[in-house]
Amino acid sequence: MKDRKAATLGELKKITNRLPSVREEMQMNLIRKLGSNEHLFPDLIGFDDTVIPNIINAILCGHNIIILGERGQAKSRLIRRMVDFLDDEIPAVEGCPINDNPFKVICVDCKNKLAEMGDDLPLTYIPRDRRLVEKLATSDVSTADLIGEVDPIKIASGKTLEDESAIHFGLVPRAHRGIFAINELPDLAEKIQVAFFNVMEENDFQIKGFPVRLPLDILIIASANPEDYTSRGRIITPLKDRFDVQVRTHYPKNRPLEIEIMEQETRDMSVGEIKIDVPDFIKGILAEITFQARSSPEVSQHSGVSCRASIRSHESIMGSALRRCIEFGESKAVPRITDLESAFPAIVGKLELEYEATGNENELVEDLARRAVKIVFDEHFNLEDLASIVESFDNGMGAEVSQLFPAEDYMDGLRVIPGMKAAVETLVNPDSPPEASAAIEFILEGLHLSNKLNREISDKRRVYK
Ligand SMILES: [Zn+2]
Repeated sequence: MKDRKAATLGELKKITNRLPSVREEMQMNLIRKLGSNEHLFPDLIGFDDTVIPNIINAILCGHNIIILGERGQAKSRLIRRMVDFLDDEIPAVEGCPINDNPFKVICVDCKNKLAEMGDDLPLTYIPRDRRLVEKLATSDVSTADLIGEVDPIKIASGKTLEDESAIHFGLVPRAHRGIFAINELPDLAEKIQVAFFNVMEENDFQIKGFPVRLPLDILIIASANPEDYTSRGRIITPLKDRFDVQVRTHYPKNRPLEIEIMEQETRDMSVGEIKIDVPDFIKGILAEITFQARSSPEVSQHSGVSCRASIRSHESIMGSALRRCIEFGESKAVPRITDLESAFPAIVGKLELEYEATGNENELVEDLARRAVKIVFDEHFNLEDLASIVESFDNGMGAEVSQLFPAEDYMDGLRVIPGMKAAVETLVNPDSPPEASAAIEFILEGLHLSNKLNREISDKRRVYK
């Protein structure tokens, strides 16, 4: 079919006499990919040993899938990647709203056309990205949206209600020969669930009381929050039974995976020649804030804390460093501890608080950030190794830091505070002022959180004593 695509049913018949169902097609492509050791789902991180084997198995079995997971667990991306298992394109009857298989036409218009034209029936080709129909379930999704409705224009032009060609097909029939994905399934009204079930199960349904029979060829994937899905009455039982497998997604199991996702998903923030460099300990802190939020009793764990909390806070903190860099004409933007607060609005927006905690979003995030800084600090330093720094502060040393200070301002501290340069050197290049300033702030704040230094905050300045 590569050289010249069949333009009519007759030409197609010279090549084949049958087209695979969507399930067969996905199975064959999966088997081919597995055979050639292709990396499946390349942009999904942390699912290699958990989610992906289940999805592979479901495709092999041709199963309808329900994906259960809290927000921000890449459920939508997982669904979109299913398209990779479809052929580049498939032949369909030209002009058919449901992409009829030319060997197996099911809609009335195509049946009429076929009777009239026979092997001259013209074909068109449907690319894979047009074979995924995705819908977010909300309470106002109607049967008309999902299944179809009688088209008043067609009625006006002489079609009768009994005439199937008077029907305007909804999203599910339009997913014929492809994938229909419905997100947040439990939000669908019960009446609509029943209609949806009938299409899936019986291949026949009613539109405005008019029975339609269409043996649709569709793979169904739905997603839901696990608690919504299991809570009584949210999903009608027959519909639940229609999903062959449940696949449970999850958040990254460890901080390095969270950071990997954060790096992959962060937008390119660079401006002209300015290089943005986020030290590893800062990335660690941002990811740890998200981890802390995921175990906080004050945060609703029912909704979960999306990886987008890490991604957006990463972007925000880069923005803060970039602004300073431009202001002072520095060559490199490196975020510091005092930039963390620029990330708080991004984090607050991703948290749903438990009732008792509402109203204290900012305090909560500050607390999560303090805990995260302390945890990451403890991973990098033993207090004994920083004894000379603490001693100098005990003897009257002081330091003032701020996200508003240029990096050069920190270089004195690096020279004057005994042991500081050695400590900074374990994290970054001490000769680069933007990097050194970030490391100095981390060390000072870590010592403060270890009860070794006093700290006063006024405006955007922090004074350590
Ligand atoms: Zn058709």
